[in-house]
Amino acid sequence: MDISEKLKILSGAAKYDVSCSSSGSNRKGSFGDSSVSGICHSWSEDGRCISLLKILFTNSCMYDCAYCHNRVSNDVPRASFSVEEVVNLTINFYKRNYIEGLFLSSGIIGSPNHTMELLYLVVKKLRIEYGFGGYIHLKAIPGADIGLIKSAAKYADRMSVNIELPSEASLKLLAPQKKKEDILAPLTSLGEEYSLNLEEKSRFKKDSFIPAGQSTQMIVGASPESDYQILNLSENMYKKMHLKRVYYSAYIPINEDKRLPEHVNPPLLREHRLYQADWLLRFYGFSVSEILNDSSPFLEKEYDPKVSWALRNLDFFPIDINRSDYEMLLRVPGIGIRSALKIVQYRRQFPLNFENLKKMGVALKRAKYFITCSGKLMGSIPAQTELMRLLSEKKHKQLQLF
Ligand code: SF4
Repeated sequence: MDISEKLKILSGAAKYDVSCSSSGSNRKGSFGDSSVSGICHSWSEDGRCISLLKILFTNSCMYDCAYCHNRVSNDVPRASFSVEEVVNLTINFYKRNYIEGLFLSSGIIGSPNHTMELLYLVVKKLRIEYGFGGYIHLKAIPGADIGLIKSAAKYADRMSVNIELPSEASLKLLAPQKKKEDILAPLTSLGEEYSLNLEEKSRFKKDSFIPAGQSTQMIVGASPESDYQILNLSENMYKKMHLKRVYYSAYIPINEDKRLPEHVNPPLLREHRLYQADWLLRFYGFSVSEILNDSSPFLEKEYDPKVSWALRNLDFFPIDINRSDYEMLLRVPGIGIRSALKIVQYRRQFPLNFENLKKMGVALKRAKYFITCSGKLMGSIPAQTELMRLLSEKKHKQLQLF
């Protein structure tokens, strides 16, 4: 099989991993083709958008995960690269300015250790023999030796291990060859090393260990777990394993399998709401218990999670823009991180009014119900009275307020 045929199969097989945002794109133009060439986009440690060659080393996987296109029981075209082929492709694409880095994952071939060894050889060769300085996002293979995973991680900018399913029971049912501890062990170990390195690198001028951190992916909707369970798991991983990102992937039915839900549309709105809630955990100071609980375990479809929280906590509002602390400003629907920072900065010089807020980018259409400027509401009707009136109308028709 020639290299372009392999590239077509192994970049197509990699598209179900959503850790690169343009995964699965099939955009075509008068020149360039993101799906066939296997190029996707991601973000580096410093927030730059970078293009990556996104491929599997092999899709000849010996496992049989119910939800996966590449599982052993599927009759799909199979291919495997050699170490040299991946290295040459990366270097050639890099030299031609097609890519700024590599995203390398793999099906399990031979054994987890054998597969991880192949990935390790690729990244080592790229860094040591070729002096490749581009970005590398490498998948750790669950079940592989932790020492081997850490050795490979030394050459990567980002590592990830896909947790895939939000509970051990679902993992046993849908991916019986994977064990929870084989997934959590590398996440924990890499997280510990990452956090230790953060402390030591400035003091001892050490090289960064996985400078872009580690991430994972969870499939949403292939198994019965609630948003509450999913977000609790994410919160734990952010706190205990120092993860940079959890990616949520709406379940796309690919395989016929009686263990999987029947006739489902990919739950894209649910995926979107989970990303919004995840954002609140990482940047807005929320905890999962403020967003969901046992009696309300799913995120609302109608509102984003920040609006839902505000509507359930009207006692906190309205807050005054010129007096409230930064943490509370962040909780106002319509005020983002940038606007909250600007508010704190500018109000030191003069008291802010609604016109100032509009210029700063505050979405007043939402925020006006929850704020005052030096004691004044926006408009003539008291904000909460208006809000309660509109909320009561929601019983009859979906609220258009937000
Ligand atoms: S291990 Fe499971 S999810 Fe990964 S490629 Fe193999 S079958 Fe697919």
